[in-house]
Amino acid sequence: MRVHIITYGCSNNKAESQIMTGLLRKQGNQLVDNIDDADAIVLNTCSVKSTTEQKILHNISTIHKKNPDKRIVVAGCMPEAEYEKVKEIAPFASLLSTHHIDKIEEALRTKTEFMGKAKLTKVTLPKASGEYPNIIPISSGCLSSCSFCSTKIAKGHLVSYPAAKITMEIARAKEEGQKEFWLTCQDCGCYGFDDNTNMAQLIQKITKCVRGQYFLRIGMMNPEHTKIILPELIEAYKNNHVFKFLHIPIQSGSQGILDVMRRGHKVEDFVEIIEKFREEFPDITIWTDIIVGFPGETKEDFAKSLSLLRKIKPDFTNISSYSVRPNTQASKMKQIPTHVKKERTRKVSEIARELSLQNNKRWVGKTGAVIIDEYNEEKGNFVGRNYAYKPVAVKGKFKLGDVIAVEITDAISTCLIGKPL
Ligand code: SF4
Repeated sequence: MRVHIITYGCSNNKAESQIMTGLLRKQGNQLVDNIDDADAIVLNTCSVKSTTEQKILHNISTIHKKNPDKRIVVAGCMPEAEYEKVKEIAPFASLLSTHHIDKIEEALRTKTEFMGKAKLTKVTLPKASGEYPNIIPISSGCLSSCSFCSTKIAKGHLVSYPAAKITMEIARAKEEGQKEFWLTCQDCGCYGFDDNTNMAQLIQKITKCVRGQYFLRIGMMNPEHTKIILPELIEAYKNNHVFKFLHIPIQSGSQGILDVMRRGHKVEDFVEIIEKFREEFPDITIWTDIIVGFPGETKEDFAKSLSLLRKIKPDFTNISSYSVRPNTQASKMKQIPTHVKKERTRKVSEIARELSLQNNKRWVGKTGAVIIDEYNEEKGNFVGRNYAYKPVAVKGKFKLGDVIAVEITDAISTCLIGKPL
């Protein structure tokens, strides 16, 4: 069969699309980039934001109208998180829960459903080779129950994949020439808590067993669990294979709102984690996430989020305007008017952009190595990442995976500008 996969959402979903590609190719199918050339279409969906969900549901209907005879598979988080809605919009489609991606071939062959939670170790499943960077799923689900989150409904409770299998997969892909690996899941901070290990020990195992030149990007970590392994984690981050990069969502600067979100930690925990990492790695890159307009957020709560951002000065802030997610606790709360959310989103975006620019300007004049991991078709330049995972735009002829020396000549809010040396 000729199959076209459309991927929405997070790096975890990208990893699952790489796995479905690997599985389908192994069964002799062909993956095609153009939907018109396909016999079947897979939509790997995301349920985090209502805007994305609306777009996906619209796409499913449009694709089916244009291609009534083609098999459609709805995969990803939406089948588990919003089963009724997906069935209503796509009665013609096969449904493939994120817990059953190993059944992709069957879901394409006949109209069927593979639903329900299951313990599937995805890291050892065949994967599309040559994808850059190489995204390594290390667990599924999490230990939290954030009141706004539909991902939890889809992914369920934490299932960590064995450290030995993760290490073997990285060693295998390294042999293939891969040099950049994203360790990804819903909360890397609680990786291994269900298997008597943790993220720091996983890093140590990988860097002890896998030799040569490569880099590890550690995925999103919640303060609730990161604080438990902090000293060990900082020790593990000292390894030169680890990008000095920390993605740690705060979601709100107000303790009252954090408690209603059921984030399970104090604002001070978040501040302490970042201060401790910066003590050890002054140039570490900090990414965080803020939800604006969460039910009950007052002007004072919002002001606390802004002052926390000004205090922490993150390199990048992923800003979400709160959107109601079905079957979540927060969906039952009194909502903030849309115009208030819009104004607050505009305000926090302005501040976040300013902070990103200030941080990036500190790098101008510095020299160092970057690994080329992206080609920006639109701008006609490559993007490399330095040891702090800072994006550096460079002009020239390179291959993905090349490590080159650059001088930082300028900075904008989204990246550094580099000149190859
Ligand atoms: S940690 Fe919270 S936000 Fe993240 S997947 Fe789990 S419940 Fe959702």
